Amino acid sequence: MYKLEVAVLLLISLVPGMAIGDGADMYQLGADATTYAMTELGFEKGDVNVLALTNAGYPVIDGQTTDLCLDAVMEVSGCTPGKENLLNILSPPWKPLWFGFFNKNTGEAVYMKVNADASGFEIQDKEKIDAETVLAKVDAWEPGNFSGMIRFANVWAHENTPFVLMKAAQLHDHICPGLISGFMLAKYVEKELPIEDPANQSYKVIACPNSCKDDYFQIAWDCTPGKSGLFVKSLTASESSGLKEKYGAGISGIFIRWDGSSNAGDGLVLGGNSSSSSTSTNETASWPEWATKLNGALQRMDSADTPENYVTTIKEFHLESAEELQALQSAGVHPLKVLGVM
Ligand SMILES: [Zn+2]
Repeated sequence: MYKLEVAVLLLISLVPGMAIGDGADMYQLGADATTYAMTELGFEKGDVNVLALTNAGYPVIDGQTTDLCLDAVMEVSGCTPGKENLLNILSPPWKPLWFGFFNKNTGEAVYMKVNADASGFEIQDKEKIDAETVLAKVDAWEPGNFSGMIRFANVWAHENTPFVLMKAAQLHDHICPGLISGFMLAKYVEKELPIEDPANQSYKVIACPNSCKDDYFQIAWDCTPGKSGLFVKSLTASESSGLKEKYGAGISGIFIRWDGSSNAGDGLVLGGNSSSSSTSTNETASWPEWATKLNGALQRMDSADTPENYVTTIKEFHLESAEELQALQSAGVHPLKVLGVM
């Protein structure tokens, strides 16, 4: 490189803003969102009862990344992953950038959606969204801008919620009864087939059928498709209803504790225990969808220590070789037929 070019580059790097270009100041945007939240919700930096949520870092606005907003949220609010009160929600790059804050002390939340050129906010809204408040007025209340946040906030605030579930919600981009079913299934498997030899054993999930639950195992067990920890196969509607009729429970998937040293594994075909999980009463049957989902999510968290209330074993099996595992995972194979479940 010529000396002149080096000198010019050095000069540019010393002028604030020039190296990044003249786009929006993402740090300032994140700081503005956080300051608004702190004023509206009345909290001080470092309050562990405040949850911050944002998809910052994923949206790209006019070619500009949004990661710096995340630094601002953490530095201004004091909410961090270490304090388990910062959630960074996955988004595709073309989705709008948003920020949310929930104050567990008051039940109040703010939601902000950034405008198209990141010069400010298209939406800045405040609402009391704690479950006790909103479920007391299901007929009169609409979640509006808070339809996603009500479950993030209330499940995070639940005493039985481990942070790993919130981490899975970051990947899943929402919290729903289905994702919490994944948490219940994992707890059940961890009880029935515990990992006793961490050097050689791991879980393998054959998600047949796939649903929201399967995003939990990727975070909780590092069972990712890329590392052959998760195989995804759907069922037709008639297969699902046929299995439900046969076993009195919907099939939740196939779970294997695989031992890489002996090339053998123990497996379970699990189902949803529909008799216990059917919790709708005369009162809740007429509720709007947001209320049913919120209530369903919180009821599952109430039962976090008794996953057997929601999970039932349909079949136990043993795999003697890598070929037997392969026979369940391959394309063109119906694993439930191989296992004799259908
Ligand atoms: Zn879901």
